[in-house]
Amino acid sequence: MFTRRSFLHAGSGTVAGMLLGLPAIAERALGTGRLRTVSDGHLVLPESFVLGDLPEEEARAILAARGLQAGSLETPCNLALWEDGTRRVLFDAGSGGSFMPSAGRLADSLAALDLAPGDITHVIFTHGHPDHLWGVLDDFDEPLFVNARHVMGAEEAAYWRDPATLDALDPARQSFAAGASRRLEVLGAGLDLAGDGDEVAPGITFTALNGHTPGHMGARVASGGESALIVGDAIGNGHLALARPDWPNPADHEPDVGIETRMALLATLAESGETMVGFHLPGGGIGTIAADGDGYAFTPAG
Ligand SMILES: [Zn+2]
Repeated sequence: MFTRRSFLHAGSGTVAGMLLGLPAIAERALGTGRLRTVSDGHLVLPESFVLGDLPEEEARAILAARGLQAGSLETPCNLALWEDGTRRVLFDAGSGGSFMPSAGRLADSLAALDLAPGDITHVIFTHGHPDHLWGVLDDFDEPLFVNARHVMGAEEAAYWRDPATLDALDPARQSFAAGASRRLEVLGAGLDLAGDGDEVAPGITFTALNGHTPGHMGARVASGGESALIVGDAIGNGHLALARPDWPNPADHEPDVGIETRMALLATLAESGETMVGFHLPGGGIGTIAADGDGYAFTPAG
């Protein structure tokens, strides 16, 4: 099950892999700025969380074709970092120190780029899951990005702030709700709320990509006639979500909405060729989507 305990257990053998993490894992110029991804480490997902109730044989075959096994997946965590010369905008905050030992490496990755959390001017959240939100506080439970504006989708914040959310989730996910509501409480009025189509920072616009969570947001960065779409977990991995986007993702809170969003998003990205960033996609997560048989393929940039 998808519990913190099982994550910790599953992650206990990955210290060596964790130490091999690279600080800046992908980079490209975009208009007059620079888009990079920085690593927060990776997640080690229990097999049940990857396969869920999916057709097991077909799912295992899709993974095997990519050299992957359901029981030992190491899912990368790519945080997008946009710098336009004035601002340093971070998309999501990583896991912090208390989610699992293979993640929460953001501060080290920033330091390797000669950056500190205090250099970040904006933290823009795609959604409130632990690997995206929990790193917003430091070890003393105070905001880590002391000079940043924080922005989250209004619907997403309301979902995690609602005491009814915890009770509505299955027990394996209740720690997500407790962890999110506590962090949102600490941020308090320091968290700005926005909706679909709102400009959340200069040149950056929220676009609703719901389903993974009820208020999950994508963010489009535009500069000098170019753009890139930060998709968060709307495309949740580089294997099943691409090969069978019509299958429910066991990680989605609203699987049917998630399918609708993912199918439309992949079709649009394949048609437009727009640069995109996926939080859990391979090769640093910056790249493009193309049609591939009945599904789609992701090609990392550079
Ligand atoms: Zn998520």
